[in-house]
Amino acid sequence: MAELTLKSVGKTYAGGVDAVTDVNIDIKDGEFIVLVGPSGCGKSTLLRMVAGLETVTRGDVHIGGRRVNDLDPAERDIAMVFQNYALYPHMSVRDNMAYGLKNRGESKAVIEERVAEAARMLELGQYLDRKPRALSGGQRQRVAMGRAIVRQPKAFLFDEPLSNLDAKLRVSMRMEIRKLQQRLGTTSLYVTHDQLEAMTLADRLVVLNGGRVEQIGAPLEVYRKP
Ligand code: ADP
Ligand code: ADP
Repeated sequence: MAELTLKSVGKTYAGGVDAVTDVNIDIKDGEFIVLVGPSGCGKSTLLRMVAGLETVTRGDVHIGGRRVNDLDPAERDIAMVFQNYALYPHMSVRDNMAYGLKNRGESKAVIEERVAEAARMLELGQYLDRKPRALSGGQRQRVAMGRAIVRQPKAFLFDEPLSNLDAKLRVSMRMEIRKLQQRLGTTSLYVTHDQLEAMTLADRLVVLNGGRVEQIGAPLEVYRKP
């Protein structure tokens, strides 16, 4: 079953810029889709429409079989990981990870269990009481992922999550994301301009160009073409 469906999706910004045109993608349950393409091709706009951070001008977005065009981001059962981490500086790692669950009214026991589990997976156990400023860049990005994981969403949306990290850390975080993907099997839509990241992570690649889908396929299929 398709967990995340984009049907004839389009976006025209106020002022008339056509950022996305007639995009059709069916993302299967548990599939990891990587969205690539040149700067300005509409990757971020597309992701933000799925997240509910940008209105959809044309077409429909379905998540878990439900049309979400008119739902707020918080009602969409997705979790987003950004390149700038977007952590709360005054909160500890633990509270950063717990924040979304608290807002949703989860019990203290559930919150504690999920935060502990995510911290184990991401090897953040010893940093739970620290503030984000006392963490390295890689650790901050792991906290941002922890915050997404604890929500147990239907889908993860990643907006160039590794592009602020240095090259060496990017390689190790790439492998970490791959391991998490194998372990959690959560449907994912991941935007990057890094070809190696795309090759490592994607079940299927979607190549956007000028706001339109140019190719969809397995990484080797797509990158073998001239
Ligand atoms: P990418 O993420 O692939 O770099 P974007 O989705 O950011 O591409 O941008 C796609 C197109 O939409 C570009 O032409 C960009 O200038 C335009 N665009 C992006 N955001 C806005 C906005 N808020 N208002 C008007 N035009 C925008
Ligand atoms: P990066 O350059 O990768 O962002 P940093 O130089 O910021 O890394 O940090 C290196 C190590 O020092 C990390 O393990 C981080 O947890 C630790 N660290 C950084 N700042 C502090 C701090 N204020 N208190 C305690 N540990 C810190």
